[in-house]
Amino acid sequence: MIWNESKECMSRDEMEHLQSSRLVKQVNYVYHNVEYYRKKMQAAGLEPGDIRGIEDITKLPFTTKDDLRNTYPCGLFAVPRSEVVRIHASSGTTGKATVVGYTRRDIEIWSECVSRVLAMADIGKNDTVQVSYGYGLFTGGLGAHYGVENVGATVVPLSTGNTKKQLTMMKDLGVTAIMCTPSGVTAIMCTPSYLMYLTESIEEQGILDELQLKSAVCGAEPWTEEMRNQIESRLHIKAHDIYGLSEIMGPGVAGDCVYHKGLHINEDHFLPEIISADTLTPIGDGEIGELVFTTLTKEALPLIRYRTKDLTSITHGKCECGRTTARLSRFVGRSDDMLIIRGVNVFPSQVEAALLEMGEVSPNYLMIVDRVNNLDTLEVLVEVDEKFFSDEIKELENLTKKITHVLQQALLIQPKVKLVEPKTLERSEGKAKRVIDNRKL
Ligand SMILES: [Zn+2]
Repeated sequence: MIWNESKECMSRDEMEHLQSSRLVKQVNYVYHNVEYYRKKMQAAGLEPGDIRGIEDITKLPFTTKDDLRNTYPCGLFAVPRSEVVRIHASSGTTGKATVVGYTRRDIEIWSECVSRVLAMADIGKNDTVQVSYGYGLFTGGLGAHYGVENVGATVVPLSTGNTKKQLTMMKDLGVTAIMCTPSGVTAIMCTPSYLMYLTESIEEQGILDELQLKSAVCGAEPWTEEMRNQIESRLHIKAHDIYGLSEIMGPGVAGDCVYHKGLHINEDHFLPEIISADTLTPIGDGEIGELVFTTLTKEALPLIRYRTKDLTSITHGKCECGRTTARLSRFVGRSDDMLIIRGVNVFPSQVEAALLEMGEVSPNYLMIVDRVNNLDTLEVLVEVDEKFFSDEIKELENLTKKITHVLQQALLIQPKVKLVEPKTLERSEGKAKRVIDNRKL
């Protein structure tokens, strides 16, 4: 099902025409309403009239997380507080939190965007959707919530944590269908590592047959195709990707359809670019670079050429589902998550993909990077799958060798692999910690 055919199935010409007219409006809007942007544009010798369409986008200066920090908390807001109906903030792992705001219309567009992604996952009004994203300042919970309500599905706002309750509600609401919609809890929105955690609990309790789960919409951290395959085969469901970031809006900027050929961007609202991480100049379809977004319709916090630090590529062209919107490939990581070990670029997602492909280990791992005698070292702790765990030292030695070989092939550097017993690495109910870098670079 396509939620908004008139926008999601436009011809490329129509879309570019719409983006151009919206970009001209948005640039005028920020110039006249955000002093910080006006000064930035003036410093670059730019006036709003210089931007006549999307072909002029590269004339505009970038916005980075630093710009949001410099103007903390609300210096980039384009409307007075009386027009702001909601605030969210992203956790400040380094320094201050990033505060974002929404007008009533921003919230409506957000719900629309999430609705489109839900429709891509075939979620509609007959579904009961358990939202297991965190509610609160984090955009995940409420962002998903409004979209679920907007498509007319039943929302179970569980937020994160309390696995026992998650499973109980999932199960019980499935069988008490008479009191709500008949399908039970049919979709769950949460971060992928949390879903893996729930998967383990479901298997431990042996309650899979009692659930009516049919799909999952996961996001908020990069995950791999292999992890999707695991989730789908272990839970017998369809797993979909939802992408977003609070600075731009929250979840719903893009999502993938049933064909899983990349994430359809809601590009009538968010103009994407892919730039080379080195030269910061635009690069072509299919090439991996940093994703940059310009909001086209935002009122409270419009951002021009915001550098997401997410690394991916874009493809244009019609999808089998009928949508014509540009698609993001799977994320390969973040430019600031990227580790450089002995001069080689290493992403945690590469380790995950390699481990999952092997099958004998669980996708739980921890990379420990250190520097000994001026030489970078990489140790990878890997949980062995319960089925393959053995007391035989020889068998474990062979497995260690095999993993070392697989990782060396994938990363092009030789890691030291250490096997750990099933379920000993810390499970997270939020974002997974995959890397400890002790080098203090
Ligand atoms: Zn599609």
